[in-house]
Amino acid sequence: MSKKQYFRCSVCGDFHYGLRMPTICPTCASQNSYILVNEQEADIVLFEKQCRRGKNEWRVEEFLGVLREFASHNDFILNPDLEHVAFTIEGILRNERAKGLKYCPCRVPSGNFEADLDLLCPCNFKIQETWIDQGRCWCGLFVDPQRYSK
Ligand code: SF4
Repeated sequence: MSKKQYFRCSVCGDFHYGLRMPTICPTCASQNSYILVNEQEADIVLFEKQCRRGKNEWRVEEFLGVLREFASHNDFILNPDLEHVAFTIEGILRNERAKGLKYCPCRVPSGNFEADLDLLCPCNFKIQETWIDQGRCWCGLFVDPQRYSK
């Protein structure tokens, strides 16, 4: 039997603990907005535990797989520039090692825990100006395949 895992809605931050990733968020009704998260993220965000650094941290390839899976259900893709993707993921995982959570590497957390939850990767990037104007998230990790240009 497969084991239950934690999933986070990248649009509204809703968490789900279950055997399968929900396709529709019961809180904000977004489709395919959930992403698998590690136990460390769930512990800190949901249970306000001060996690030991290093607990369940993902390596670059593991998080890359999770992001690939996330993009595969949506109308955006991972940036075809894999060097840029690897560089961005390293920044995200560096934040996880230093600050406990996978904060966006392109923005600076304010120190307000609740407000900074909006900076967890992947964030709700489709509301960002860079997505609307250029078809990319702030960091260029995700791009709109119709508008992507190197
Ligand atoms: S802007 Fe891109 S890299 Fe930064 S948190 Fe959002 S999705 Fe992740």
